[in-house]
Amino acid sequence: MNFIALIVLIFISLEFLFNTLAAIMNLKNLKLIAPESVRDVFTESEYKKSQQYLRHNTIFDLITEALKFSILLIFWFTGSFQLLDDYVKSFEMTEIYSGLIYIGLILTGYILLGLLTSIYSVFVIEEKFGFNKTTPIIFVSDFIKTIVLFVLIGLPIIFSILWFFEYMGNFAWLYCWILVALASIVIQVVAPIWIMPLFNKFTNLSDGTLKNKISKYAQEVGFEFKNIQIMDGSKRSSKANAFFTGFGKSKKIAFFDTMIEDHSEDEIIAVLAHEIGHYKLKHILKATVLSIVNSGVIFFMMSLVIKNQLIFDAFYLENISTYAGFIIFGILYSPISLIISIFSNYYSRINEINADKWSIETTGLVIELGDALKRLARNNLVNLSPHPFYVFLHYTHPPLIDRLEIIKNLNK
Ligand SMILES: [Zn+2]
Repeated sequence: MNFIALIVLIFISLEFLFNTLAAIMNLKNLKLIAPESVRDVFTESEYKKSQQYLRHNTIFDLITEALKFSILLIFWFTGSFQLLDDYVKSFEMTEIYSGLIYIGLILTGYILLGLLTSIYSVFVIEEKFGFNKTTPIIFVSDFIKTIVLFVLIGLPIIFSILWFFEYMGNFAWLYCWILVALASIVIQVVAPIWIMPLFNKFTNLSDGTLKNKISKYAQEVGFEFKNIQIMDGSKRSSKANAFFTGFGKSKKIAFFDTMIEDHSEDEIIAVLAHEIGHYKLKHILKATVLSIVNSGVIFFMMSLVIKNQLIFDAFYLENISTYAGFIIFGILYSPISLIISIFSNYYSRINEINADKWSIETTGLVIELGDALKRLARNNLVNLSPHPFYVFLHYTHPPLIDRLEIIKNLNK
């Protein structure tokens, strides 16, 4: 094992250790009785249920993460990256097509593992807790649609990245960056028009007091939109949410049907105002810019890795190739992405508070926002007492109890 292999091993082990430790601390942090501020919404049995839900999910995650980590180590230290390369080279194809097969085979393994875990998660865990509404037919058709989308969108992008690194010399990373940045913007534009309707049915919200209230609020804060739609989220799960998509005047506001059923009109307005707050405070724009900058840094770092013989030696690979470099970079990047996500999660938690503040200031619906958040939390069985270390690593939103406290203080 060379020096680089040792460093990589230390870093990916630390990442695994931190995640495992945080999950265990999170379980240990469960409290016997529900916090005072949510007792009006969470009954004792719902509170117990939310804890059992956390236990089931955490144990399942710990097992799958340990499995993935072991598979990676076995693959690495049995020299399988090189064995796979030998196999792919036996087809005697060009570098780029060999690359597509190499990456394709590894991705297939990864997708199969993901498929097994999601079958268990949907049909065993979500089913047990009464969330699951997905039938096997919906599940299979979702899977097929996702694969088709990957072949149509993901594959050409991977092909182009391999091609740039093969033929465009030192600035290949820059071309990759431009391509991925453009692709991500195009996908954001076309997703609500072509991709999301493949998975869900959207119907316009019928005329009535809710529609009037939404239109009135949007006009007051100068939020232009094309229409308000209801998404049949209940087709897959009883969990609820709200969001909007699109740019400029063609924005669409969408609510899960499950949310419309279980919340009062004012609660819906309070949640919608929070979402509009993200838009008005430019959180969405800033997040898009940050993710584009991040992908530039990723491609630049990748260009350094895929020419480095020492790194290939660390993975027992004899020949330098773009495609194997691609996979190795994925392994090296994993601990780095954990560190980046700590910063981006922190930033996101601040944005959530500012969007809550926006909602309260523009609607005055303080109690309704709190009630809506509690009801969403109960219906989704969220953990009410996450460990601070777990929050630090993984939470994009402040924990519910903290958030309710902040909302209360914002109003003073
Ligand atoms: Zn938010």
